Amino acid sequence: MNQLAFGLGALAGLAVAAVAVLLLRLKRPKAPPAWLQDYDETHLAAFEQWPTTALVLDPATEKVLAMNPAGLRSLGYTLAEVRASRFGELFAPEEPNPQAPEKPLIKRVQEASARAPLELAQRCRDGSRRAVECTCYPLQLGTRSLLAVAVHDVSVRRQVESHLLEKHQELDHLAHHDHLTGLPNRLYLQAHLPDAIADARRKNTVLAVLFLDLDRFKHVNDSRGHETGDKLLKTVAQRIRSTMRAEDVVVRMGGDEFVVILKGVQSSEQVSEAAARINHALSAPMIVDGRTLVTTVSIGVALYPNDGADMGELLRHSDTAMYQAKDRGRNNFQLFSPNMDKRLKERIAIESSLRTALSSRQLDVHYQPIVDIESQRVVALEALLRWKHPNHGYVRPERFVSVAEEAGLIVPIGEFVMQRAIEDTVRWRQAGAAIVPVAINISAVQLQRTNLAENISRLTKQHGLEPSMLQIELTESAVFERREARAREASQDTVAKLRELGVHIAIDDFGTGYSSLSYLKRWRVDTLKIDRSFVRDLVTDMSDLAIVSAIIAMARYLHIKVVAEGIEGWPQLEKLRQLGCSYAQGFLFARPAPADECLRYLNNTPLDLTQRLPALDLLENTGSGEHVRALRA
Ligand code: C2E
Ligand code: MG
Ligand code: MG
Repeated sequence: MNQLAFGLGALAGLAVAAVAVLLLRLKRPKAPPAWLQDYDETHLAAFEQWPTTALVLDPATEKVLAMNPAGLRSLGYTLAEVRASRFGELFAPEEPNPQAPEKPLIKRVQEASARAPLELAQRCRDGSRRAVECTCYPLQLGTRSLLAVAVHDVSVRRQVESHLLEKHQELDHLAHHDHLTGLPNRLYLQAHLPDAIADARRKNTVLAVLFLDLDRFKHVNDSRGHETGDKLLKTVAQRIRSTMRAEDVVVRMGGDEFVVILKGVQSSEQVSEAAARINHALSAPMIVDGRTLVTTVSIGVALYPNDGADMGELLRHSDTAMYQAKDRGRNNFQLFSPNMDKRLKERIAIESSLRTALSSRQLDVHYQPIVDIESQRVVALEALLRWKHPNHGYVRPERFVSVAEEAGLIVPIGEFVMQRAIEDTVRWRQAGAAIVPVAINISAVQLQRTNLAENISRLTKQHGLEPSMLQIELTESAVFERREARAREASQDTVAKLRELGVHIAIDDFGTGYSSLSYLKRWRVDTLKIDRSFVRDLVTDMSDLAIVSAIIAMARYLHIKVVAEGIEGWPQLEKLRQLGCSYAQGFLFARPAPADECLRYLNNTPLDLTQRLPALDLLENTGSGEHVRALRA
């Protein structure tokens, strides 16, 4: 551009020199000397044949005194017409700004230099307008101060520039927006959020970052296909966008993750309300391809300046809070707290060491007897996963099972438990024991993601064990509380297949969830295990007593066996016996123990409870005090 301007300047210089000579000649009465005549003609020819417009202007009258033929051709006027016009009639400012009255045109022309040419619109005789740039030089003619102006047609360049600008804006939009939903993307956020934070700092206001992650979106993708998943994401994006104010920024980070930025936040209630609005908007069913889908969202919130000083920290902490929302049962929002960060780090540490636990044989399975209350014989053993961490000792399943579920690690871990339980049972049988069914805990993720019936059928065949020697324990939430009817149906299918194989079905921790007895009947459940929390205070708490007795009575009516979990004392056992409960499990009978120590339960004789001292119980589980410490932790 500069080169062009300099070129123009040089041209203008030459043309102007020629005009000056021309004007001088007009004034001179006598014939000039031969050398000057030659010189004049050269300059005249240059002016006459110059390819771009050159003109001389009187700043006092704003009249054009001379213009070269290229200029006349370009405008479509004769020299006489041009000389009768004022400069502003031939060349006008491109877009006069009505708000800011500009300097007089002639002043601006005077200031137009090669470095900063003046942009004007040339008004041609045929009514067309052409974009031009002009540069100006002062011209001294005798006593007269004139202006020499070089005009350059830039209409083609302008067209190209505006085309390029359009293209650039288009590319910019493409790069900063998500193709699927049309929302701004991660790149946009990276460019925008630091500015928004700086703005909040300057204005001393609060800014909220909401991190959104759809609940179980992967499941929709897996079961309905990516096309449906994409359509769902589009609808979700529209709903989030329409829930927010125009000035709020909604970004799709990728996958099923979105970020919302709220600026100028007045109170935390305002943020909570916005998050609740999103939760509410998304939980209404969506019609995709004629089918109803339900998706919910977990939201984590971090506020500037309290929860983070920069983009990285705010995003990290809102993400942490989002995980907390998932932990709290999904479909809710959580505000970040520093505690969460600690828990998340712990969780990440568990996840990474759990990955090595599988391969480095840190996992083991212990067994706890389930006893017939009347005969005090062991009727089943529950397989319970144990993880002995090389540095931290035993880690409680409650602490790592949910992490394993989130990370998908529960699938290989569950297979390990299943295989080990089958192998141990076969080993007990080979050792001459009177084996009993082994109960295996199955998490919801395993039920959905693995072909459980096929796996059990294959493994039992491989080891020569009857599937009826296995019982699976499902929690209510794993099967009944699925929002999506399809997932529930799929689980019911799996359960039906397992039943066909002869596997027993038990519902674990009964009473803590949906507790629908009609489901128990429909799913033809064999056993239900009353959760420990109802058994603990059975003797003293009247409402626990009422619940437990109601469960026992209704289960009996439905021909479902009942196991009471967590019996630690004789009074509880006595109460359960009175209520008609048939089976029990708890520390009163035995703590979970390694496979080698379980042979003694498998001799078809009643457990001798009178011999049991709690202190001995603790020791025989592990051979050391570690397990006890871990259980108490
Ligand atoms: P759960 O299936 O309800 O297992 C019973 C839990 O109660 C066991 O805890 C057992 O040690 C404990 N328990 C038994 N009797 C008593 C008692 O008298 N008093 C007290 N205070 N506790 C008693 P554990 O082994 O820590 O397992 C906790 C939970 O972890 C299990 O609850 C189960 O939901 C899960 N879990 C354990 N192993 C596995 C597994 O292999 N796969 C899956 N998916 N989950 C497992
Ligand atoms: Mg269980
Ligand atoms: Mg239980």
